[in-house]
Amino acid sequence: LEPDYAFMVRTKNPGGYAPAAFYLAMDRLADALGSATLRVTTRQGLQLHGIRKHDLREAIATISAQLGSTLGACGDINRNVMAPPAPFTARPYAVAREAAVAIADLLTPRTGAYFEVWQDEALVHSGEPEVEPIYGKTYLPRKFKIAVAVEGDNSVDIYTQDLGVIPVFEDGERLLGYNLTVGGGLGMTHAKPETFARQADHLGFVPPEDMLEAVKAVVLVQRDYGDRYNRRHARLKYLIHDRGLDWFRTQVETYLGKPLQPWRALAPWVFCDYLGWHPQGDGRYCLGIWIENGRIKDAGDFQLKSALREIVERFGVDLILTPTQNVLLVDIAPEARAPIDAILQSAGVRPVQAISNAERYAMACPAWPTCGLALTESERALPGIIAEIEAKLTELDLADEPISIRMTGCPNGCARPYMGEIGFVGSAPGAYNLYLGGNLASTRLNWVFRERVKREDILAVLGSLFSYFKRERAPGESFGDFCLRKGRADLEAHL
Ligand code: SF4
Repeated sequence: LEPDYAFMVRTKNPGGYAPAAFYLAMDRLADALGSATLRVTTRQGLQLHGIRKHDLREAIATISAQLGSTLGACGDINRNVMAPPAPFTARPYAVAREAAVAIADLLTPRTGAYFEVWQDEALVHSGEPEVEPIYGKTYLPRKFKIAVAVEGDNSVDIYTQDLGVIPVFEDGERLLGYNLTVGGGLGMTHAKPETFARQADHLGFVPPEDMLEAVKAVVLVQRDYGDRYNRRHARLKYLIHDRGLDWFRTQVETYLGKPLQPWRALAPWVFCDYLGWHPQGDGRYCLGIWIENGRIKDAGDFQLKSALREIVERFGVDLILTPTQNVLLVDIAPEARAPIDAILQSAGVRPVQAISNAERYAMACPAWPTCGLALTESERALPGIIAEIEAKLTELDLADEPISIRMTGCPNGCARPYMGEIGFVGSAPGAYNLYLGGNLASTRLNWVFRERVKREDILAVLGSLFSYFKRERAPGESFGDFCLRKGRADLEAHL
């Protein structure tokens, strides 16, 4: 008799695109085989939790039948390619979406094994290459994360990616080429200083016709030079850290067969989450719905899952899963706006105007009880902590401050805690390392302020810091900038 294994099933949705039929299939699978909830991930995928081992094939075959896929959502391979979630018709957004899909196609492994294992035992692919043309016989040393951004819109957290691709335009219309970033990555291990979070470097620029070959070249350099002896040292960021950006650029140029051009200057990055109603540019609208920690569920008077199902069934709208674990309903006709609002309101789903800043800019990974790597709570702990923080900020008349707060149950960093103005990283049961000094635009790493802060002590520590911030902030200064300016020793002295 073997244990009653249950699994998490994660889908790969380039750019977060989730067509209506796919979403409805996931909704049904969650009820029939899973935990009756869905979870939007920080890489724009969708997770089913609690799928029993003997139900895995049915779940994955159903996803494939609805033109979804789990292939490459996990493993030592290119993961889901991210893109800004806004379905705008403006050319930079259209180009970013197309690039994300093209990169995802390029780096999807040419293998029939996935379909043979998960759909049917029969051989479905004949003539399969003996060696995968990009990944080779042994695939990559470690997971590999790519995002495509739109200049100025950092909804994808571009500096946290192994490879970032940013289309560059003249006058917002004529595509000049693509800037490339490399070597971002957030996972680390407690008490192992040789592991660390790293922000990506600017690699260079390529014309449009070279973009896919340049992406391939970056992947091939990591495939051939990445560390295959020590998994904790296998991400691209360590290769670049150890050998240097110039060495890495030379290797990429060798594989590409031509030099990269210098990085093109870009507009400053800002945080974008697209909550609320927005015109798409084609006469239709999208609606961004805030979802606490990405969990789509029904609970008592809160009927988010049922409301989304009703909207998708009735209006046939597609969804885009966002990098901040929210969803956008897209391609909505103007006359459908009022009935959709009414469905959400009667389901107890709050509009963006009713979401506090502390809630809006917060993210947590699943951690306990879902993730085997978790050292403590995250998704189940953060709402209570946010409520305490929100009350303190309100008391100090700081509730309008947009402060990004991110929590994970271990240092692996799935909710990107090392970029938040406040980051909580689980270090022991009921305790977190507290990070400070990131920014909302997510363009710099934060730093550890205190280790192993107990859950019950969090508010006392942050409350003192918020009071100090209120007293001594410069005009317009954000909390993250304030912490960076003051530094750890000064902040400690004012606790
Ligand atoms: Fe699990 Fe750690 Fe990722 Fe959270 S950050 S989901 S605990 S691996």
